Amino acid sequence: MTLEYPRSIDENDELLIKMVLEITGKFGEDYWKKLEQEHLYPGDFVREFTKQGLFKIPIPEKYGGAGLGIRETSLILEEINASGGNSQPFHGQYYMTWLLSKFGNEKQKNALFPDLGNGKIRMQSMGLTEPDAGSNTTMIKTFATKSNDEYILNGQKIFTSRIEESDWILIVARTKKYGDVSKKTDGITLFLLGPEEKEQIEFTRIKTMFNSQTYQVFLRDVAVPAENIIGNENDGFSYLMHVLNPERILIASESIGDMRWFVEKSSEYASSRMVFNRPIGQNQGIQFPISDIYAKMLSVASLRWDAATMYDNNGDIKKIGELANSAKYLASEYAWQAANVAMDTFGGYGTAVDTGIERKFRESRLYKVAPIANNLVLSYIGHNVLNMPKSY
Ligand SMILES: Cc1cc2nc3c(=O)[nH]c(=O)nc-3n(C[C@H](O)[C@H](O)[C@H](O)COP(=O)(O)OP(=O)(O)OC[C@H]3O[C@@H](n4cnc5c(N)ncnc54)[C@H](O)[C@@H]3O)c2cc1C
Repeated sequence: MTLEYPRSIDENDELLIKMVLEITGKFGEDYWKKLEQEHLYPGDFVREFTKQGLFKIPIPEKYGGAGLGIRETSLILEEINASGGNSQPFHGQYYMTWLLSKFGNEKQKNALFPDLGNGKIRMQSMGLTEPDAGSNTTMIKTFATKSNDEYILNGQKIFTSRIEESDWILIVARTKKYGDVSKKTDGITLFLLGPEEKEQIEFTRIKTMFNSQTYQVFLRDVAVPAENIIGNENDGFSYLMHVLNPERILIASESIGDMRWFVEKSSEYASSRMVFNRPIGQNQGIQFPISDIYAKMLSVASLRWDAATMYDNNGDIKKIGELANSAKYLASEYAWQAANVAMDTFGGYGTAVDTGIERKFRESRLYKVAPIANNLVLSYIGHNVLNMPKSY
């Protein structure tokens, strides 16, 4: 079981959650702890997850999928994190599927969707970030030169996650140089690289403070068939909004799951740990921070739900951006606060690997920085929503 809370979900959502809980019941905290100690990909979990059809969720029914939305997906990932698991190693496949669904052509969809649904292939990796561009993503230098019916890609990516675990990956490259466009978001193209193209790429693992399969990637004269671009050449940045906004909504959901896990662990421990002949949770210094996180979790869960519903209803992408960014910002800040509250509640025991608190503490820190640093979210809100001067 995971910590429950009042929310507006229907019977189908309840069934979906039940299905996820059956899977998470087979992969308890010890499973995630062991993987993290060895920095391994959760292959068995992902296989079981796929067997139960959970990657079919976002695939349109026409291609053998369930044709469901980000609402349902957000419930799945939230539940995994609330159970003590970590959705980060495989969440990429969802937003990549939406991207393809909206902007891929029929040939690409027919070739990839059925096998993504049944688990024969994985598509979980997107290379956008570059060492010299950082948060200023339009300054990427990876360049694709057209040559007959193919593009030749050259450049370098950093923190490209799950590349080793993906058969198909997305590489974001410039097809017009930054200095040659009047609008900096122009001249960016999205490339799908399959197993043959992947063989031409070099990548090295970056070991991080948590279990994250993330890599430094080198593209040297990588030949990609022209038919592998998504949508139109040079228009890729606008399509990316359909990766980045869903990603933010899903990451908010994972942070909400983490908050639930921290609240559950902290409230249980606070009620049972006796110091000065009374449970530590009787002290308001321990009790109130846990209650505070729970109330914050309820509020950001609703905001995330609004963002997901607007996306599923094909709402205005700018308004979705406002909600998705705000949900990601608040959920990641609150989850980090929740991690610290759990550490304080557990005292010295929070640092002991066996309690799992220190693992989740480290994991929950990521989403303040990635996929977008929270300062940049605030800059986006300040400029794009509140019309203040642009600071980036
Ligand atoms: C584990 C992990 C997995 C990742 N996976 C992927 C992936 O799969 N694909 C991918 O493309 N990327 C991935 N990333 C990259 C991630 O999206 C970036 O790390 C993130 O966008 C921040 O970029 P940066 O690290 O270059 O920080 P920088 O841009 O160097 O920023 C450093 C700090 O400066 C602040 N800052 C910068 N500019 C401003 C400004 N104008 N105003 C205020 N503050 C500012 C930032 O907020 C940040 O705190 C991953 C990162 C990590 C750590």
